[in-house]
Amino acid sequence: MANKHIRPEKIIHSAGKVDVRNCRACDRVFDYPGYGPQVCPECLKTEEEQFEIVRSYLESHPRATLVQTTNDTGVSLRKLQAWLREERLSYATSKGSGFTCDLCGVPIVAGRLCPKCAGRLANPERSKRTLKGNSSREETE
Ligand SMILES: [Zn+2]
Ligand SMILES: [Zn+2]
Repeated sequence: MANKHIRPEKIIHSAGKVDVRNCRACDRVFDYPGYGPQVCPECLKTEEEQFEIVRSYLESHPRATLVQTTNDTGVSLRKLQAWLREERLSYATSKGSGFTCDLCGVPIVAGRLCPKCAGRLANPERSKRTLKGNSSREETE
């Protein structure tokens, strides 16, 4: 009888097939369907609504910057940046996004890498060597 403290929020049912994740937006645990963004159904609905707002905002304000967007739409800067990272959202110019390439630092409109660096990562020269026999890919994230 020593363990009286059961924290309900820590109890996760571990049914074999269910992929349980923490919601990226509210951190609540939910059953991940295995595709789509890693957010719980409730946040997903909110997020889709917000995404639509931002998308139509950017259509009518193609020169808006990230800061202007968050001020005018009320969608948080973090969320906007996450969408840019995922390349769901992109700005007409790199000035708008304020993003830079993770590797070389040049301004980019969305994502994490400039087209040059992305191309270099997609076709590394050493992939020629590993083509034969060794099928295990080593990718650092
Ligand atoms: Zn959530
Ligand atoms: Zn780059």
